[in-house]
Amino acid sequence: MTLTENGTSDYVIVRSANAVASEKRAAEELQSYILQISGVNLPIVSDNSDTTKKEIVVGKTNRPCDTLIDRTALGDDGFRIVVNDKTLLIAGGQERGTLYGVYSFLEEYLGCRWFTSTVEYVPQIKTIVIPKDTDNSQTPAFMLRDTSWYCSFDSTWREKQKINFKMLNWNNISSDYTKFVTFAGPVGHTLNYFVPKEEYYETHPEYFMIDVNGERRNAQPCLSNPDVLKLVKQGVKRLIEENPDATLFSVGQNDGGDWEQYCHCPACAAITKEEGSFSGNVIRFVNEVAEYAKTIRKDVKIHTFAYQYTQIPPKITHPVDNVLVQLCAINCNHADIYENTDKAFCDDLKGWSAICKNLFIWDYTTNFNHYLTPVPDFGLHQKNMQLFRDNNAVSMFMQGNSQSINGEFGELRAYIFAKLMWNPDCDLEKVTDEFMLGYYGAGYKNIKKYMNILESRKSDLFKIATAPENIINLSLPDLILCDNLWDAAEKAAADDAQLARIKRSRLQLQYYKSVAQKAEFTVINPLREKSAETLYHSIVDSGITWIQERKQLTKNPDFSKKASTWSE
Ligand SMILES: [Zn+2]
Repeated sequence: MTLTENGTSDYVIVRSANAVASEKRAAEELQSYILQISGVNLPIVSDNSDTTKKEIVVGKTNRPCDTLIDRTALGDDGFRIVVNDKTLLIAGGQERGTLYGVYSFLEEYLGCRWFTSTVEYVPQIKTIVIPKDTDNSQTPAFMLRDTSWYCSFDSTWREKQKINFKMLNWNNISSDYTKFVTFAGPVGHTLNYFVPKEEYYETHPEYFMIDVNGERRNAQPCLSNPDVLKLVKQGVKRLIEENPDATLFSVGQNDGGDWEQYCHCPACAAITKEEGSFSGNVIRFVNEVAEYAKTIRKDVKIHTFAYQYTQIPPKITHPVDNVLVQLCAINCNHADIYENTDKAFCDDLKGWSAICKNLFIWDYTTNFNHYLTPVPDFGLHQKNMQLFRDNNAVSMFMQGNSQSINGEFGELRAYIFAKLMWNPDCDLEKVTDEFMLGYYGAGYKNIKKYMNILESRKSDLFKIATAPENIINLSLPDLILCDNLWDAAEKAAADDAQLARIKRSRLQLQYYKSVAQKAEFTVINPLREKSAETLYHSIVDSGITWIQERKQLTKNPDFSKKASTWSE
């Protein structure tokens, strides 16, 4: 079917007179991009108008073709793009599906790409022809999808990339057109919110844990104490009442890297022994909270963690239906896919999958002690995500550097994660190449070669906060080659904006050299402080303000020291 021919068209875009915000937006975005692509401004008409022969029907309407849309099967986010005689129908779930369908149509059939919120590709096509046999239904592999890379904090870009979730609700992203699913109240490590040690440790030390040596500590509450359960129930009740539209609430163990940091009192220890893991204590506790929450409002769901010492699933107790368990890959070795590097984690994943209907995943995609250092993990994500999908995970959260713009490959990561979370079987190499060409320009193959060098020089074991020199071992000849590749990429830049993007991503190599004290940053180079000063100003000029989790770039750097010390 021919939608536009040499800059003219008889088609109209039809939407319902009662279209919801996301459907109105879908019709307008379709109109806007078809205008940019072909120069034709298709009118948008309501379905109150008489049916004409040539219609692009967007969303739920009174047109007979609406019977082709099975909204129950498509859910909130799914859609169908189908040609029916001379009608093109793009419709799906009213929450987001129709809008996602329009963006997917523009991507897959017309060739638009939205690499970042500011870098897009819109082709020029005077005659738009769509195959007559087009019939494309899509639903996401994971019901909830989020990444926290800083560059992803743009509601329009998120809608274009079908990111529908905000795992961390402190960011202020919101849209006039679609709803991002999120939690009400605090998220994640929330037990201290419900049972604050600041308020109770002195007056009620019995609310708190006994450590492995028999000492009372305030790091976690004791989950066998009935008053602790009461406090958490009260807190959840208050949050439910304060947030009448919210369904997701979070009751999670406090943070702390210590594997023994959970309650070993006789009552807790007996449960841990029975269940084979402290996760048994957590699930018994959270089950009680969730059952209670359901009596307040039956659509409420309670989120908790399988994290650190609760990673191993319980032997006896299963999470009740309205408990969401988020398994965190925090201790995984990122040198290879998790099936190869961390059999214990994969066994735990399978264990949780067998007992939990609502399995969420939290994965880690930056180095949290060195936001700027290269992380050669691009070979992992597709296989890992397929593994999560195959084990029935319903939600993916790909945590990145959320604190400022990034000096590594943050934009590439956010883009490929969005594509993988929608469809883990997508053609990742094609997706990656398209991004790199669109974002870095004609010299992108040099950057790919650089990435291949990193891949070939990575160690067998690195995690989410490993020192840069222990992740990759680049020799002086490697470093010279890497710099040559970045030089070539810069030389091919089409404009200043593209050059600035290349230079910002290149900071990772300089940062690595500084921290590993190699090449111009070697301690015997009398000019190394000059190199350090140049690097510092490049970081500042590129807009980077955070260089590790919770540590900002300092205004008073010591250039005799490694770049990793320039924080405060
Ligand atoms: Zn206890």
